[in-house]
Amino acid sequence: MPTLEINLQKIQHNAKILKNLLNKQKISLVAVVKVVQGNPVIARSLIQAGIKYLGDSRITNIIKMKKANIDAKFMLIRVPSITEIPLVVKYADYSLNSELKIIKLLSNEAIKQRKIHNIILMLDMGDLREGINPSKIEWYVKEILSLKNIKLSGIGMNVKCFQGIIPTDDLMSEFSNYAYTIEKKFGLDLNFVSGGNSANYNWLMTCKNPGAINNLRMGESLFLGKETINFKEIPNLFIDAFKLSAEIIEIKERSTFIRGPVISNAFGEKIQKTQLFNEDNLEKNKTRTQALLNIGREDVAINGITPIEDIKILGGSSDYLVIDVKNNIFHIGDKLNFDINYEALLRLMASSHIHKKFI
Ligand SMILES: *Cc1c(COP(=O)(O)O)cnc(C)c1O
Repeated sequence: MPTLEINLQKIQHNAKILKNLLNKQKISLVAVVKVVQGNPVIARSLIQAGIKYLGDSRITNIIKMKKANIDAKFMLIRVPSITEIPLVVKYADYSLNSELKIIKLLSNEAIKQRKIHNIILMLDMGDLREGINPSKIEWYVKEILSLKNIKLSGIGMNVKCFQGIIPTDDLMSEFSNYAYTIEKKFGLDLNFVSGGNSANYNWLMTCKNPGAINNLRMGESLFLGKETINFKEIPNLFIDAFKLSAEIIEIKERSTFIRGPVISNAFGEKIQKTQLFNEDNLEKNKTRTQALLNIGREDVAINGITPIEDIKILGGSSDYLVIDVKNNIFHIGDKLNFDINYEALLRLMASSHIHKKFI
């Protein structure tokens, strides 16, 4: 089985550094664990590192963590579906919301379960994904405040998720002003003025004053040690807490010549000849050494992995990764190593065909 090696100490180190960095600006951190599928081993080590809030987009992951007795406050960071409302009220301490119809149903359910459910009202500040039109905020707040067993714990926004908008100082202070306005008008003290995600790192480092913003929800920076505007490494964070290795299961000399006619691959994609081989290699009698690895597109985003050994990834199907071994001498059973990006990690963690090895 291919192995994903997970270094818990490196993750804990990242969590501590990031949390302290945010706390210096009086900003709390929701550690977003959706990329690791709410893995309880990882969640527990985050708590040991001092993390108080865990965020996940899937209620099923939150339930998994709750059942593993992870001692944290849980935030559902995808707006709830009608069909999951009973579970959201039962298991999530907070949820992000943008639809009054859903919030009313949460209220009814919370009354039924004799609980208070905390919500964070999402404002669409231009990324055009979830959130209300910010100009309507006062109307929404008034409606929400009239609902029983619902507490408006805060407001939130997103950047760089759908349209890829950047959190500029202007944008962030505009958002901050919405918080000040409703706090004043309705006499609120918002626990969460949640300004975004890992894409807010540069803003945080350069802004003079974060204003009302007192929370960020971060996953990628925490686990992969990078901000997500330029994907630059964050100083003092590990970028290699996760390492992938897969095993060679076939090595053969193969022609550089592609026998035609061709149409498209197993995923309906047209393959450019030059994608596979050097133009000057496209001769009938030349050969190259190709190996197959025991990992495929079912398990990983193959565009999201970077080989550590000097090889070339030619492509992959559901179950195989196809590589050119270049000048290396490899043997069946050899393991090759890869650095991974966020999408690769997401898929690797979700695949039951990948061994997770905690160190
Ligand atoms: C995924 C997600 C985050 C975390 O994003 P990162 O880029 O991993 O920091 C924060 N908020 C919401 C609503 C999300 O869906």
